[in-house]
Amino acid sequence: PTAPPIAVTDPATGQVVRKAAAHTPPEVERRVRAAHDAARVLRGTDFATRASWMRESAALLEADAADVARAIVTEMGKPIRQARDEVAKSVRTMRFYAGHAAAFLADTPLEAPERVGARRALTRYQPLGVVLAVMPWNYPIWQVIRFAAPALMAGNAGLLKHAPNVPDSALYLDSLFARGGFPAGAFGALLAGSDVVEGIIADPRIAAVTLTGSEGAGRAVGAAAGRAIKKAVLELGGSDPFVVMPSADVGKAAATALAARMNNNGQSCIAGKRFIVHTDVYDEFAGLFAEKIAALTVGDPFDEATDIGPIATARGRDELAAQVDDAVAHGARVLATAATPADTAGWYYPPTLLEGVGPECRLFREEAFGPVAVLYRARDEQEAVALANGTPYGLSSSVWTSDPEQERRMIDALEAGAVFVNGMSVSYPELPFGGIRNSGYGRELGPAGIREFCNMKTVWIA
Ligand code: NAP
Repeated sequence: PTAPPIAVTDPATGQVVRKAAAHTPPEVERRVRAAHDAARVLRGTDFATRASWMRESAALLEADAADVARAIVTEMGKPIRQARDEVAKSVRTMRFYAGHAAAFLADTPLEAPERVGARRALTRYQPLGVVLAVMPWNYPIWQVIRFAAPALMAGNAGLLKHAPNVPDSALYLDSLFARGGFPAGAFGALLAGSDVVEGIIADPRIAAVTLTGSEGAGRAVGAAAGRAIKKAVLELGGSDPFVVMPSADVGKAAATALAARMNNNGQSCIAGKRFIVHTDVYDEFAGLFAEKIAALTVGDPFDEATDIGPIATARGRDELAAQVDDAVAHGARVLATAATPADTAGWYYPPTLLEGVGPECRLFREEAFGPVAVLYRARDEQEAVALANGTPYGLSSSVWTSDPEQERRMIDALEAGAVFVNGMSVSYPELPFGGIRNSGYGRELGPAGIREFCNMKTVWIA
């Protein structure tokens, strides 16, 4: 298939707003070289210097927040309020790593018993070099900052291959860190299709790769990293369970379910996507959830009152429609939908609540990347856990219970990179984030995330 053009296409109208020219091969080469040169400079800088550059970069992003938020909405259609939140969270994340990187990467003394023969032993964290970041469009600023803030603070350089539909975000990030004081080339964007990715991973000047995206992209990038023997972090898709047990506060669970599923127009990797509800509270939960979904305001993402905007791409909207049609054809029932704007060429899809989705349906196993929630009825805790763990994914999970014993059992039993008890899954700057199984491997954020792209050097001193 031919690569999609690098262009801003407004999902609310389907109209191309701006085309961006892809970088030529010599320009890509120049940017790889600049990143490699910058990595050598960065390696010799200390935490305090990098922290001052990071704080300055955060201040610039904060000052540009209104413009950046508007660009995000035009590129991918999330409601403007959520775009502002995305930028604010990115600023907080930059400040958090400016403040904490030194502690997360401090030398760690090791016990050096006599038979090790050392007077002293420790681990020291050193940067790896240039990390290629292949990123998706769903949080065009936050997904990149979540990688870049810790990576740059660790002393690495970054090269961004962003999704083709968010070139304005890519170009904004391309200059942000240099404006903040980082050496030229410390963070740069490549306007290029994913056909350049394998060659860049193989390039000796590249140390590692991080990908946030779909399972298919994960297989390709993981294989390329394997062939080149380079470190990789893969943050892939998910079909997270949101489990509601009889002792839960059902009203609060239903209100949170709405946010968990519908944030970002339903296009979030850690959205609750499968709502697994104990039969004792199923009807109550389903009634509340259906009412809330039917009441959602779908429309222009620039309107402050909008809850749900359009799907980011025509292909994404068609895929979602095909998944729902397949479920309905196999006997699933639609419990609620919300009205979408009439007379528009925008890629709107109605928020939808389904039940009766069985193993013969695609939605039973696949990720729904849009405002579609699926309800499952569980007879008991065992069946709830089996349903929760019953997809190839394992990103995050949420469980609602006020029974401490059940809480303990569920925390252990849910097969996912995270579990949130009586709350929804959120990626916080402070907490490690990542999945297991087909949701990928490695972690971003937190002490574990910043160490992913470091050489943990064992030091032995006689
Ligand atoms: P996508 O199509 O996989 O694209 C993500 C990035 O990967 C883009 O830059 C894309 O570039 C690149 N890519 C795609 N195929 C590639 C290949 N064969 N080799 C190298 N690069 C390749 O995903 P998306 O549609 O933008 O995003 C939605 C997916 O991302 C969902 O599955 C979602 O759950 C997942 N996601 C995961 C997380 C997480 O943290 N785990 C967060 C957000 C989203 P091109 O388009 O130019 O090919």
